[in-house]
Order: sequence, then structure tokens, then C-alpha cells
Amino acid sequence: MRILVIEDEKKVAGFIKTGLEQESYAVDVAYDGTEGENFAQVNEYDAIILDIMLPKKSGFEVLKELKGLGVKAPVLLLTARDSVEDRVKGLDLGADDYLTKPFAFEELLARLRVLMRRGGYGAAPLKFADLSLDPATRKARRGDTDIELTVKEYALLEYLLRNPNRVLTRTLIAEHVWDQTFDTETNVVDVYINHLRTKIDKDSPKKLIHTVRGVGYVLKEE
Ligand code: CA
Repeated sequence: MRILVIEDEKKVAGFIKTGLEQESYAVDVAYDGTEGENFAQVNEYDAIILDIMLPKKSGFEVLKELKGLGVKAPVLLLTARDSVEDRVKGLDLGADDYLTKPFAFEELLARLRVLMRRGGYGAAPLKFADLSLDPATRKARRGDTDIELTVKEYALLEYLLRNPNRVLTRTLIAEHVWDQTFDTETNVVDVYINHLRTKIDKDSPKKLIHTVRGVGYVLKEE
């Protein structure tokens, strides 16, 4: 899952980015309204966290333009003032929810989960064949065996499980699991797929992660 944070306060942006990365999200940060708008148009995000008070373009302007362009990612507005007017204006412009600063990180996480659930990302365990992944415990299970995953392995497996039987290119995988600093020249995707295979497929006669030569990978039963 990839999140865009549009926030000019470096400290707040850094706090959100670090916290979300620990939860396996890939996070891009834009530090002004114009940059944020560009990012949101170029990349596909699962959610956007948008501050109202921004240099160059306000959060309201950004919101209006993104909705006008048909960007579908749910938007969580951050407002510094506990102003009813701001909230109403934001919701009128199409924001999905808002959070008043300062906020507890746990609350931000909870709001994001609600937004993404509405967008079809459930909190129920993801299942495919005898493999399951539980977003609550962040553990995978193959047959009767519990499997511990690192943050990136979790994100990668989650993406595969949300797209079973679909061939996923390295580019698609990188876009959803890594942030914009990802270097497409590297073989990081292959390396992590191999980590996952070792944990998930190695001890089972039925392999689930398959290579599509020259293209990418697919989660399927043979
Ligand atoms: Ca701000």
C-alpha cells in the first residue's frame, strides 16, 4: 500500500512517514501543494494525507484539482486549527475525513484503516490456497505453520494476495510496495520475492509464487 503525505512541516511529515513505514506502507512526501499535486497525478496511491496550510497551493486547492482530475485515492485532511469552517469546506470539496493537529499517531492509523476499508481494503485475513495473511497480527500462515515476516515482506505478500492469478510486473510491484526513491535498475524486487519464496513455498510441495519469465510474478495454484 502506498501513501502520499503532502505536508510542509518537515517534522510532522517525517513523523508520519517513519510511523507508516513501520506499518509496512510505502510513503512519498511532498512539501508543497504543487509538488503534491504532481505526485498524485503521476503515481497511484491508496490514500493521500493532505495538510491544509501549504506553500504554493493550499490543501483546499490541491483537493479541488485532484477531485476534478478524477484521482480516486481517499483523502485525509490535516487541519491545524480546530475550525468547523475548515472541516466543512474540506468535506464539501470531497475530502473523505479529517484529523486535527496535533494528533496521536494511533488515531491517524485508525482513520487510514477506515478509509482504505471503504476503498475495498478489508481488515479480514487475506487468503489464497492454504496461505493466509492477517493484517491484525501481521503474520502469515501456510498450512499449520506460522510465518514471521519483515515489514517489506509483509507489504509484498499483501500486494500479491490482493491480486491473485494476475501477472504483476516488477514495475507494478515496485510502485505499490516501494516509494519513489526506489531504483528501478536494481533487482530488489527479485531479492524480496526470493525471501518470500523461502518462507512460504520452500517447505510446501505446492508452490504459489511463480515467475513469468521476462515479465514478473504471479500468485497462483498450478
Ligand atoms: Ca502546513
